[in-house]
Amino acid sequence: MIKSFSKNRNSHAVEPKDAVERRSAKPVICYGVNALPAFDTDFYQQARQDMKKVAEIVVPPRDGGSFTVPAGHFFRIVSVEGPQVGDLNLWNANDLSERFFSGKTRQLHATHVSTGDRLWSNLPGLRPMATITEDTLAWYGWDEDGAGVHDVIGTRCDPYTNYLLKGTDYNHCCHSNLTRTLASARDLPVAEAETLVHDVLNVFMCTGFTRDTHQYFMKASPVRPGDFLEFFAEIDLLGALSTCPGGDCGSSHSDDQTACYPLKVEIYRPAERALTGWNTPERNGYGGQHGLGC
Ligand SMILES: [Zn+2]
Repeated sequence: MIKSFSKNRNSHAVEPKDAVERRSAKPVICYGVNALPAFDTDFYQQARQDMKKVAEIVVPPRDGGSFTVPAGHFFRIVSVEGPQVGDLNLWNANDLSERFFSGKTRQLHATHVSTGDRLWSNLPGLRPMATITEDTLAWYGWDEDGAGVHDVIGTRCDPYTNYLLKGTDYNHCCHSNLTRTLASARDLPVAEAETLVHDVLNVFMCTGFTRDTHQYFMKASPVRPGDFLEFFAEIDLLGALSTCPGGDCGSSHSDDQTACYPLKVEIYRPAERALTGWNTPERNGYGGQHGLGC
């Protein structure tokens, strides 16, 4: 017997006689990623062996901070002081129209990412912007609620949804933190910067979907001071990180009640010649006709 739950409480849809048969179709992974270049563990391990820290920033609680990472460098997002979730945006540092594509990253890899996964850029570039090279929370895996760490599901907390649900203004949501940060990093009008802010990688956030209603849930992050998520910049990157007002996202967000902590971003340069043979990935090779003139 296949257990099923009603998707929509308000629906009057009548179950057909062959419902069991229809539900028994086998799942097929949408994207076979075997054709992609495999994660070259040896290369990245070698490259990170003698790397030297060349810069760092500390993002205060309920705020944002920006950083740049040249292609071929590493960066780490590090937990300091207490459990804290971070919302990450990435842009091509030389062309802000190319930016992180959370949805396609989710489709190509999974709902949550870890070592060996790549962060892909939006269409039409669709190339790896960064590769995850170390994740001290990889041990967490999937828990009994089906939750994992570092999701590419949630978009970012924002003042519009907050207003929709609570009818109040809250100005330190991740969306606003990222907007202010980008505006100041690139000297852009706030309204222009806001249009460039995009769906995030939820660093350290522990999330899943409830089993009965498939609603997005969060639970207290297992991150502790000293934990980090490390990336290799495949292209020149501008990054912005927001320290979410939800803190460890174990209770609420978009308010001033929750305990929040800073996050640190560290930039590392690998040893000379460590990148021999490596090249920054090209933009996607699709011809771009879209069915016109062909
Ligand atoms: Zn947030």
